[in-house]
Amino acid sequence: SEFELLGLPRPLVSGLARQGIESPFPIQSATIPDVLAGNDVLGRGQTGSGKTLAFGLPTMARLAGVRPVPGRPRAMILVPTRELALQVHDALEPLGRGLGLRMKVVVGGMSMGKQIEALRRGVDLVIATPGRLGDLIRQGECSLADVEVSVLDEADHMCDLGFFPVVTDLLAQTPSDGQRLLFSATLDGDVDKLVQRFLKDPITHSV
Ligand code: AMP
Repeated sequence: SEFELLGLPRPLVSGLARQGIESPFPIQSATIPDVLAGNDVLGRGQTGSGKTLAFGLPTMARLAGVRPVPGRPRAMILVPTRELALQVHDALEPLGRGLGLRMKVVVGGMSMGKQIEALRRGVDLVIATPGRLGDLIRQGECSLADVEVSVLDEADHMCDLGFFPVVTDLLAQTPSDGQRLLFSATLDGDVDKLVQRFLKDPITHSV
């Protein structure tokens, strides 16, 4: 399929095919090769453009084949709300299973005990709201020292909700040579500050 031509591994491509997804949306064709190549990416895209798979597929591909150390996820996807976290998880988890990846939603309003258990077993990818992830880090249950890929989804919405300081703090705890992907409908104000501080020569795609 066209997804294979973009460089995605076969288990992801066949997982997509099982869902009837055969042709990439424009933001996916634009973004997937850049992320696979290790570039930072700035995506301007609204919900419905297909941005979840645009950042999720190549992020999962980059994680394949290495086991996480307990309490040390290798990728973090930050989102503004619990609902969006669950939605992103439901889109990515079945596909990631084909690569043997373990994911966990880390959000407020849900059992902290189960989140801690999962982190202790080892998680490749956390899909988190900033507040709860910060809490678990302060409790010593999670470290961002092994995070190779950080994704900020709906960065403008996160800043509107007052998460700018927490997001800044979380990104600052990831390795400085890590890859960062930021998606937002607008790129001014606090979002621009995040871009200036944390993205290196980002490739911008608007959809
Ligand atoms: P998103 O913008 O990520 O919330 O995705 C919007 C919807 O488009 C979701 O229901 C996806 O399952 C669907 N979708 C994403 N990419 C594709 C694609 N390449 N082909 C068909 N449907 C897709």
